[in-house]
Amino acid sequence: MSEECNHDCEHCGKHHASEEECRAAERREAVLGAIKHKLVVLSGKGGVGKSTVAVNLAFGLASSGAKVGLLDVDLHGPSIPTMLGLKGSALDVEDGLIVPHELSGVKVVSVDFFLPDPNQAVIWRGPMKNAVIQQLLSDVTWGELDYLVVDCPPGTGDEPLSICQLLQDGDVSAVVVTTPQEVAAADVRKSLDFCEQLKLPVRGVLENMSGFVCPHCGKVTYIFKQGGGERLAEEAGVPFLGRIPIDPSVGEACDEGTPFLQANRDSAAAKAFVPVVNTILQEK
Ligand code: ADP
Repeated sequence: MSEECNHDCEHCGKHHASEEECRAAERREAVLGAIKHKLVVLSGKGGVGKSTVAVNLAFGLASSGAKVGLLDVDLHGPSIPTMLGLKGSALDVEDGLIVPHELSGVKVVSVDFFLPDPNQAVIWRGPMKNAVIQQLLSDVTWGELDYLVVDCPPGTGDEPLSICQLLQDGDVSAVVVTTPQEVAAADVRKSLDFCEQLKLPVRGVLENMSGFVCPHCGKVTYIFKQGGGERLAEEAGVPFLGRIPIDPSVGEACDEGTPFLQANRDSAAAKAFVPVVNTILQEK
């Protein structure tokens, strides 16, 4: 990634707008350099299950023995603390660095931990948001990780752009979440184009809320259209990772603060999600 160039920094020789930015870039390099794979979870719009996928991807990867971190940078809707029973948790800071919470071996940091009141809306102007994004990517004591799963804000605006650009120093790739309807697919097309423009490799498209499996008879009802995610992946020439059905146990697990993979491994959603995790584990 090439940073905006204002002057040569006397410390690192690279170009940064200020000395402070230079030091942050150095810390970021050190922090991100200890992480093998960064997986950015993107979606064209909110409400398609991006955070649910990020949480379960992180816990699924960790259950295979991988060292995993989960970073929630969804500035306007940080829902991961609720999904993990961490809502209202304070931010631990040691020597000026954020110390992640740890749950079942997954290290977790959310922008929500920055907010003094858990019900407060995030009303930050661009520079403030940028400062928080920079800090979350430079100042966390993740240590050595195999995977850092990053829950990005939806869409293709400034925030996901900054996050993807700041992460792009090392091995980073995207998992794009969609639902089967054409309106969602249109937005996801933009997300795939965003990845192409940033030269961000796409691990694959995942179709969430794909059909409803009746808990009584097992029959699948396609409430929305079928196959939208697969078509999008084909069009963009990227892998299709699979379909996760609409499953009431996903919402229940989410409200209880447990990843659905842990809450009920026999659920339709968990059965569909395990192969997705395995595909990602196989692509080293
Ligand atoms: P996003 O991050 O895209 O805004 P979330 O992951 O917060 O979306 O999910 C939105 C809501 O949809 C949550 O209440 C979540 O529990 C629910 N949900 C997500 N995926 C499924 C699914 N496959 N089946 C049932 N409910 C789901």
